[in-house]
Amino acid sequence: KSFDDLGISPPILKALQEMGYKAPTGVQSQAIPHVLNREDVIVMSKTGSGKTAVFGVPLLQMTDARAVGPQGLILAPTRELAVQVDSDLKQMAQHLQHKTTAVYGQHNINAEIQALKKNVAIVTGTPGRVLDHISHGNLKTKHIRFLVLDEADRMLDMGFVDQVERIIRTLPGNRVTLLFSATIPAEIHKICRKYMKNPVTVEI
Ligand code: AMP
Repeated sequence: KSFDDLGISPPILKALQEMGYKAPTGVQSQAIPHVLNREDVIVMSKTGSGKTAVFGVPLLQMTDARAVGPQGLILAPTRELAVQVDSDLKQMAQHLQHKTTAVYGQHNINAEIQALKKNVAIVTGTPGRVLDHISHGNLKTKHIRFLVLDEADRMLDMGFVDQVERIIRTLPGNRVTLLFSATIPAEIHKICRKYMKNPVTVEI
């Protein structure tokens, strides 16, 4: 399969090409069509499998750069991952008008508040900082239609489950939820059952 077969829009295909992505990885060709079909997906895969594009491409394609309020929220366990994901999103969005930003612990909170005011379509962040912005009204979750839990097993290991659940409870029920995890321990299963709708599982 090629990227052209996956239903990806021309500006994103162009960006992927410029990023040096010649052909989709296994997880990309298996999972992207499900996400574009608005299905909830559980992706079991290791880091380095190309998972960022699995959610990045469909989120950019299915959100509106001009709409008011963020439509996509990505939760990641560490600041390094949050920064990396946001940097990948910006590259994938280089031929689109979408604004994106990353929020994370130890980052200048006022700079984040200013960034969040600039009508970002997709926010990536660590759970504590995201919750902080939600509770102070800096991050409005009313229009979130896509939730991504990246490296869910690591978020669990780092003790973020309560914060993740508190964030999820502020989100509209009518959304797509995507979960990425190398392993699916019982606690992750519980999260899937509680917050996902008939999820498809893709295992690589
Ligand atoms: P990820 O798992 O998304 O962090 O991706 C792991 C690495 O593979 C990153 O350096 C990506 O830029 C790269 N990558 C992801 N998808 C592809 C692809 N289809 N072709 C070439 N490189 C890719």
